[in-house]
Amino acid sequence: MSYIEPAPVSSTHLNPFESMMSRFDVAAKILGLDESSYNVLKSPQKIVMVHLPVIMDNGKVQVFEGFRVVHNANLGPSKGGIRYSMDVNLDEVKALAAWMTWKCAVVGIPYGGGKGGIKCDPKSMSKGELERMTRAYTASMVDVFGPEKDIPAPDMNTGQQEMAWIMDEYSKLKGYSCPAVVTGKPLVLGGSLGRVEATGRGVMVTARSAMAKMGINPVGSTCAVQGFGNVGSISAKLLATQGLKIVALSDINGGYYNADGFDIEKAIAYRDSNNGTIKGFPGAKEISNNDLLTLEVDVLVPAAMEDQITAENANDIKAKLIVEGANGPTSWMADETLNKKGIMVVPDILANAGGVTVSYFEWVQNRLGYYWTEERVNRRADRTMKQSFEQVYATAQKHNVSWRIAAYIVAIDKVANTQKLRGVF
Ligand code: GLU
Repeated sequence: MSYIEPAPVSSTHLNPFESMMSRFDVAAKILGLDESSYNVLKSPQKIVMVHLPVIMDNGKVQVFEGFRVVHNANLGPSKGGIRYSMDVNLDEVKALAAWMTWKCAVVGIPYGGGKGGIKCDPKSMSKGELERMTRAYTASMVDVFGPEKDIPAPDMNTGQQEMAWIMDEYSKLKGYSCPAVVTGKPLVLGGSLGRVEATGRGVMVTARSAMAKMGINPVGSTCAVQGFGNVGSISAKLLATQGLKIVALSDINGGYYNADGFDIEKAIAYRDSNNGTIKGFPGAKEISNNDLLTLEVDVLVPAAMEDQITAENANDIKAKLIVEGANGPTSWMADETLNKKGIMVVPDILANAGGVTVSYFEWVQNRLGYYWTEERVNRRADRTMKQSFEQVYATAQKHNVSWRIAAYIVAIDKVANTQKLRGVF
């Protein structure tokens, strides 16, 4: 299959924001987006940067850089996770915030897009240090966050505990309990059943929809999963339940191969009792990260971080289908090569949108004060993911573009229309 998409720009490296904008430009051109809407949508609505002084366990004060970017709040309050990593920088947070806008629009939930991050190395910090830093961040964002304004959630290196601290700090500052200010909370604090598994579940559901369109039988198909955090491990587990053979996994220590397929439940238990890594897992042959990406498999799930499939390795990718569990794992420079090779890609803004979909359900339950069964959460999330895939697929057929550009077309069209209805000054 080949598509009518403009050739990549000549620059050799684009940061994640530029990669996002390149796809935005292509979709905007196909949609015939007017100049005013284009100018409004390309710029984030709000950028907040803070310096957070935190007393470390050794008594010294360390100052951390924190960010929150609201890309767009046309469809509703801005929504998006908070990541803790030394790689956090403004360009990355801006790209991630924009992806949240498109993601929420693709799956039709009433949210805009935002994202936050703190530049830190969470693995080297104690629980107390992480708690103080998270509370300091929440306190400095108290006027940014809000159940009707901007709603954070987990992302890379953050999870239920950080969300509990955010909920607690925000509630204390407001003077009343406010669970709907953040999603991805522990169940006892108003979290939703199904939220932990939601992103991986959406990866599995969209992978199945894509395989059905491509005539690939999941049973016996081979799959490599890059990254073994929340998204990677649960995607692998759920894809295995569909009959796929997970022959390769990876984590920050490297890649692991087993031609007979991994027992994912055992790999998760091993990781949890082995300092968070699957290094040394019985039956796993060590391979490099690049070996994993270029394996001869049917399905590749990049679920680690941005910029993994690039102009340098795109030509060596042999998978028939890529399902993007991570945000931005494929650089713009790689898109054309993958398209030419006929490799189908379920793009991040669709494939990993199961997480924010169930975050929406969590927020709805918090506001109702009435909690759903896991079966109801999963049924509604699966329906949302399937319908969104079908809409993207139909748009791709209509415009003869990749699924990625089709997802951008669906999203930009929706956000631009609300922009027109709401108007500007
Ligand atoms: N961090 C996740 C994402 O990138 C979840 C965001 C949310 O639930 O708000 O989609």
